[in-house]
Amino acid sequence: MEWEVITKARRGDEAVPNLESYDKARAEFSWEAARAALDGLPGGGLNIAYEAVDRHVAKGRGDKLALRWLSKTGERRDFTYANLAAESSRFAEVLRRLDVGQGHRVFSLMGRLPELYIAALGTLKNGSVFAPLFSAFGPDPVRQRMELGDATTLVTTPSLYRKKVKPWRHELPDLRNVLLVGDEPPVEDTIDLATAMAECDGSMPCAAMEPDEMALLHFTSGTTGKPKGAIHVHEAVVAHHATGRFALDLHPEDVFWCTADPGWVTGTSYGIVSPLTNGVTMIVDEAEFDAERWYAILRDEKVTVWYTAPTAIRMLMKVGPELPQQYDLSRLRFMASVGEPLNPEAVVWSQEAFGRPFHDNWWQTETGGIMIANYAAEPVKPGSMGRPLPGIEAAIVTHDDGGAPEVVDAPMTPGELALRPGWPSMFRGYLHNEARYRKSFAGGWYLTGDLAMRDADGYFWFVGRADDVIKSAGHLIGPFEVESALLEHPAVAEAGVIGVPDEMMGEAVKAFVALKPGYEADEKLRKELLGHARKRLGAAVAPRAIDFRDVLPRTRSGKIMRRLLKARELGLPEGDTSTLESGA
Ligand code: AMP
Repeated sequence: MEWEVITKARRGDEAVPNLESYDKARAEFSWEAARAALDGLPGGGLNIAYEAVDRHVAKGRGDKLALRWLSKTGERRDFTYANLAAESSRFAEVLRRLDVGQGHRVFSLMGRLPELYIAALGTLKNGSVFAPLFSAFGPDPVRQRMELGDATTLVTTPSLYRKKVKPWRHELPDLRNVLLVGDEPPVEDTIDLATAMAECDGSMPCAAMEPDEMALLHFTSGTTGKPKGAIHVHEAVVAHHATGRFALDLHPEDVFWCTADPGWVTGTSYGIVSPLTNGVTMIVDEAEFDAERWYAILRDEKVTVWYTAPTAIRMLMKVGPELPQQYDLSRLRFMASVGEPLNPEAVVWSQEAFGRPFHDNWWQTETGGIMIANYAAEPVKPGSMGRPLPGIEAAIVTHDDGGAPEVVDAPMTPGELALRPGWPSMFRGYLHNEARYRKSFAGGWYLTGDLAMRDADGYFWFVGRADDVIKSAGHLIGPFEVESALLEHPAVAEAGVIGVPDEMMGEAVKAFVALKPGYEADEKLRKELLGHARKRLGAAVAPRAIDFRDVLPRTRSGKIMRRLLKARELGLPEGDTSTLESGA
């Protein structure tokens, strides 16, 4: 079906978009100019945290509200830029006193508490590397990522610590410090963060870093093997800042709400760094999705720019367009979405429900920042991810394994989405996995692993993933991680995990399991396996459904053919089965 292009008229009282004309902005843009929009430390060097908070204080904007935190229970805490600067300095000093040095990895595992934001900025200020984890991860994904990332320090809450870390804590030789947030009585072998912060005076200066020194470590999932730790450097802040201006249209007077959790890259790049470098007021909501709560936040906090995700939008759609009309949302100027395909119906619905469309944009953990977007001043084609940001060259390419990619010029022809390397927030490696990093590049292109098409106007359209990775409710899930957890159960001989279409979450994780002799494939065991996976992996990653099979399709070399499991599940053609082991 053809969807009508949405053109927008600016209301008289609205800010002029930062990107007024796409072609002009692209032609005029340079990364040098984008660098010059930031300050750098007074004595030289660069630090994301300085650009995010301290420079605003240095320029007399310290009293401006930087972060408003809304608790699950209705409490509100406000932090000005000066407050954030002082608190993050205290946190940096806590680290320094603990001998946590530059380049050391500091992990966080907690809900959206103010301390998470302070820890992120404080870690960067100390020159250490911030590695946020999603608090709904189970103990297995937490341990695996901390092990892979050589964690020296963890900031968490007492209950998450007890449930997910304590049992194996002493098996991680590098993990020296566990800092706990919250007012529970002291827990053995841990440090109470509030007490430690109270001993510091907030005057510790920000570490002067080189632009290409490691700042952030974000874990992402691949088809096989362990998660990958994507390395980002301090210079990424240049892209965080510029893309926030262009793709999210951030102006200093904005009240901005990014609903993403900092445990995923969106929640850090656009839930911490970009809004702060752009000097806006950002809203942080501790609670999970709730349609009425969300509309009340948009109204009460007078949110002007809202960045959310397709799963949430679909949940709002389910409640209906009448609900938002009961709230005064007249301050809302710009709405954007990321993380998974935004169906055209959702764009058209938002136009009806809010009088303005959601602007889809595309990027991934490795790119560190938005690469393709729909813009405030430009027409929106529902279903399209938009066009590459100024400074970003994107193309559709075809390539045989190992061959040099060839650019596909013909419009609407599927191929792999590729980007020309060189933007500042590009990942600089997968930690301890140089070979895998190198494999992401060919013939001068970074290969994204996504399949897409480009139309004659230069708009990009998402087609699917080139690999077996699953996107469920916006969370990237590696099938191997789920299969490994299932295989730890004594009844499981083989496991194959795929994503199946789900109306709300985009995809849902589904597992196929072959049992060891002597086990009965019944409802009781299915429930037990679902529970086992949930306990190990956490609710965000565990399968929603498990089917039993006598055998799973494998290639002759022994690899489970997830592609075939999926084709069979969805009743699609099985494609090339020449490598299939006979009998499967
Ligand atoms: P992550 O690294 O977890 O941020 O996931 C990145 C992946 O999410 C991309 O490679 C895409 O597969 C998917 N993705 C992100 N944004 C979009 C979008 N706007 N439309 C379709 N897929 C998206």
